[in-house]
Amino acid sequence: MLQRCGVDAVEVRTVAHLDGVEGLILPGGESTTVGKLLCRGGLDEAIRQRVAQGMPLFGTCMGLILMAREIEGSDQFRLGLMDIAVRRNAFGRQVDSFECDLPVPSLGMPPVRAVFICAPYVTRVENGVQVLASVQGQTVLVRQGHLLGAAFHPELTEDTRIHRLFLDMVADSKSLSEKHGSGPECPSNRASSPHGCGTPSFSG
Ligand code: GLN
Repeated sequence: MLQRCGVDAVEVRTVAHLDGVEGLILPGGESTTVGKLLCRGGLDEAIRQRVAQGMPLFGTCMGLILMAREIEGSDQFRLGLMDIAVRRNAFGRQVDSFECDLPVPSLGMPPVRAVFICAPYVTRVENGVQVLASVQGQTVLVRQGHLLGAAFHPELTEDTRIHRLFLDMVADSKSLSEKHGSGPECPSNRASSPHGCGTPSFSG
């Protein structure tokens, strides 16, 4: 998907891989397992640090769960970067996975085709988190500054608009850090995705 948008993508599996990436996508997967892996390699702290320096982060499905400050009824690991609460598997079990045409007013027409797989939804937003889309009355696409979270899988469709929105956020953060002479050093136009434990890869 990122290549289709004209940017290079690399997989981030270690702290060293994070060097030089300008934006990070946390893909779908199983949030308790991936949370443990993030901690084991120290990627959790490295990601927190880069995000604090302004690196845009886009979480889809599991990624959204790991970005949340609160995961309902669970004390499992999370990065805790976005001021939201989420409910895991909120639309039901695997058999309740579904697709729909999701209106995203800020992206205009047509609606986005959204694929929900054992998806969470957002149960609370705070501190200026913008709700960009809802389905069945539940919040499923949110943005807070340089953080973007989707409960669904935009990479499983042909529509590049949500990834392009994220890439615009990456470009904005880059020009901001150039203007202020601070923030992450970004040698090239790259975005990346960590290994998602057998989950869909964003690099294609
Ligand atoms: N249900 C998974 C979890 O709670 C997320 C599923 C997904 O990323 N598609 O961790």
